[in-house]
Amino acid sequence: MNRTLPAYGWLDGTLVPWDECVLHARSAGALWGATVFEGIRSYSSARQQDCALFRLDDHLSRLHRSARGAGLSVAYSDAELAGACAQLLRANGFTGDAHLTATVYAGLSDSLDPMDPGTPCGVHITAIATPPSRRDGVDVCVSSWRRINSDSMPPLIKAGGNYQNSRLAQSEAQRNGYDTALLVNNRGTVAEGPGSCFAALIDGELVSPPVTAGALDGITLDSICQLARTEFGVPVVRREVDRGELYGVQEAFLSGTMHGVMPIKSVDRVPVGDGKPGPLTEKLATLYEQAVRDHPAYGHWRTPLAELAPPVPVSAGEAR
Ligand code: PMP
Repeated sequence: MNRTLPAYGWLDGTLVPWDECVLHARSAGALWGATVFEGIRSYSSARQQDCALFRLDDHLSRLHRSARGAGLSVAYSDAELAGACAQLLRANGFTGDAHLTATVYAGLSDSLDPMDPGTPCGVHITAIATPPSRRDGVDVCVSSWRRINSDSMPPLIKAGGNYQNSRLAQSEAQRNGYDTALLVNNRGTVAEGPGSCFAALIDGELVSPPVTAGALDGITLDSICQLARTEFGVPVVRREVDRGELYGVQEAFLSGTMHGVMPIKSVDRVPVGDGKPGPLTEKLATLYEQAVRDHPAYGHWRTPLAELAPPVPVSAGEAR
């Protein structure tokens, strides 16, 4: 797919041309994946003329938790990072749906040793237009790769290096003709997808694995669970999900910032329900779409761009 590249990225406090939003090849961030990051969505709204960032405060809190866990320092306040996101969207002329990544990275120390405790840290932020979500559903397999665990690489820390595990699972799944994968943990219970949380409708309850099973504390999943409980009266349960349960669930879906709700049609070619997106999943996906854009009851989840930065496009000359 040919994509139009955005004009700018944001690197260590300033807007820079897209091609200059780069780390040195020998930096710990680029060489070892010594980064933590957040994927954040901005959504347009038919009612509001501008776009809004979804659950921005929660994403920035998780970024700080990840950075603490990974021993990386963040030189910017939440307000500064939020302002930077808005500045970047404005500069690139995004008024519609976009996906941002805000990344704290370990740079290049004077000793050139990526283990150096004095390695300086920085932040880069980029934004790209988003492809439409897979509302039609996905076919998944259970990966032969196990999810990393807190003995070695805590999955709760959203670290760049953790995604090597996700990549292995995703590429194995696609090689074998599936859309994506589910990873089980070292106990053999379900953890999550390569970049998304897992939930299933089991005996009338919306069940999802706890973080102790190797799942990220997903912000999308939390939103969906709140919608399921308050809008549809569906009980929400966090518990381990045995692999064997996967083949008998009524409905299942993956959730994440990038794609929202992705219904699961089959697991290991065994249809979930009747092999189509389930009715509760569809209702939740639709309501989530409204909540991220303009549902009046969920305004507290949205930060309009106008609250963060004035709508003034930045010219190329001002970007450096
Ligand atoms: N697990 C992993 C490994 C992820 O990368 C993501 C995407 N951030 C998720 C789960 C879903 O989390 P969220 O809903 O907060 O995006």
